[in-house]
Amino acid sequence: MPIYEYRCEQCGQVNEFLILGRRDPLLCKQCGSKDLTKLLSAHNTVIAPSRGPTEPLSGGCCGTPNSCGTPGSCCSG
Ligand SMILES: [Zn+2]
Repeated sequence: MPIYEYRCEQCGQVNEFLILGRRDPLLCKQCGSKDLTKLLSAHNTVIAPSRGPTEPLSGGCCGTPNSCGTPGSCCSG
């Protein structure tokens, strides 16, 4: 659902609008002002799939023996 949030610059009211390709002017539901600022809505947040398996970032030892005093101690598995 294309729901967008707009914050009214006049009264601070956050309004949610369901946008279905309409071009109607959006008005604040509280004060009627059209001075609205679009907010990033969590409703539309899509978690993009990561680009394949990622190398472990923690424990710089594994995979980089040069940075580890005892290579193999944590990479034997
Ligand atoms: Zn308002």
